[in-house]
Amino acid sequence: LQDSRNFGWELSDEIGFNWKKLLHNKTQEIIRLNGIYKRLLSNAGVTMFEGEGKLIDAHLVEVTQPDGTAKQYSAKHILIATGSRAQLVNIPGKELAITSDEALSLDELPKRAVILGGGYIAVEFASIWRGMGAEVDLFYRKELPLRGFDDEMRAVVAKNLEGRGIRLHPGTNLSELRQSGDGIRVLTDHGDQITTDVVLFATGRLPNTKRLNLQAVGVEVDKTGAVKVDEYSRTTVPNIWAVGDVTNRINLTPVALMEGTCFSKTVFGGQPTKPDYINVPCAVFCIPPLSVVGLNEQQALEQTKSDILVYTSSFNPMKNTISGRQEKTTMKLVVDAETDEVLGASMCGPDAPEIMQGIAVALKCGATKAQFDSTVGIHPSAAEEFVTMRSITRCVAAGTKLKTNL
Ligand code: NDP
Repeated sequence: LQDSRNFGWELSDEIGFNWKKLLHNKTQEIIRLNGIYKRLLSNAGVTMFEGEGKLIDAHLVEVTQPDGTAKQYSAKHILIATGSRAQLVNIPGKELAITSDEALSLDELPKRAVILGGGYIAVEFASIWRGMGAEVDLFYRKELPLRGFDDEMRAVVAKNLEGRGIRLHPGTNLSELRQSGDGIRVLTDHGDQITTDVVLFATGRLPNTKRLNLQAVGVEVDKTGAVKVDEYSRTTVPNIWAVGDVTNRINLTPVALMEGTCFSKTVFGGQPTKPDYINVPCAVFCIPPLSVVGLNEQQALEQTKSDILVYTSSFNPMKNTISGRQEKTTMKLVVDAETDEVLGASMCGPDAPEIMQGIAVALKCGATKAQFDSTVGIHPSAAEEFVTMRSITRCVAAGTKLKTNL
């Protein structure tokens, strides 16, 4: 709406936003999707039992139904796919905080929000709430958000979040939450205090394994509680398998789908198949979004013996030139200097996830920089920049150690 004004739209100053309507429609959509999934299962001949399950032995599952009665079912194979659960940070007053579960069903849109964490959920909710007009303070313990992503792109995300009006508090943790007359008083480990309506802990998720009785039947878990599996998703009990977040490999929905598909091919299709974790693309839906595939610059230096060529491009997307929004799109390619193979790509800017899905196919095929260069661009688009990055931004010598602990 802000950007539309310079395109000639004359909006009145009174623009209403109905949070309850959005929540209602969101819930309706989830109910619709749940119905579709249930129908898909039953049409495929799956019998569903609703309740809380636990293992009794290697072939027996006990399900406690909503009315409290328990029934046991035996099976040749058992697949554990119980996902993960948001974890709370153990500080005084933590019961005043919410997680992303509750954040998706708050009665009112918060006017002031404090978010702890620098991962996917933290930057996504910071963007959503700020975009809807809330005052947002984002606290994270590193110098930059999104640890694990390319450091240069992390800095771009931080700059954009700040540009959108989110107050960033790097290198800062929360030490206590207190209920006060005008909201929740938040104390930081730097000795500062602020008052807010909502505190969101977006501090990671833990595998859901506590109540499954796994150890008793010999299914081993690691120190985070994740089920230990081999390359085919088989646990330490040969007929019990596990896929998805409960195994804590790459915790993304499409990765869980891949693991499930490989499991079914292996166990029921007569085709032992391992999930392939190379070049898994992903996106962080902050505003504007960040999307990446392959190795970031640090990983490329660690994992290859060659020099690394880095190509970057930072430009004003065309719609920002007219709207006047000061927010550049940034793209980056990391290339093996010896083989010319493109090892990784990143983009922060509008439509980045839509663009990166196609780039991921190219990387999966082992595309070289020369093949990127020989691809004709689509004009005018932001995506064409990926095939027109002609000059090397820098060459990083093999073995160079980049600054870590950001
Ligand atoms: P992430 O693992 O992405 O991030 C967790 C954040 O919490 C990190 O910044 C971490 O800091 C911080 N943290 C952890 N413990 C503490 C602590 N004790 N004190 C302070 N900070 C702490 O988890 P999220 O909760 O953001 O997301 C959960 C999962 O959901 C992820 O696995 C993600 O893949 C998935 N997800 C994916 C989305 C997508 O694909 N777009 C969207 C939303 C979720 P540090 O880096 O310093 O360790």
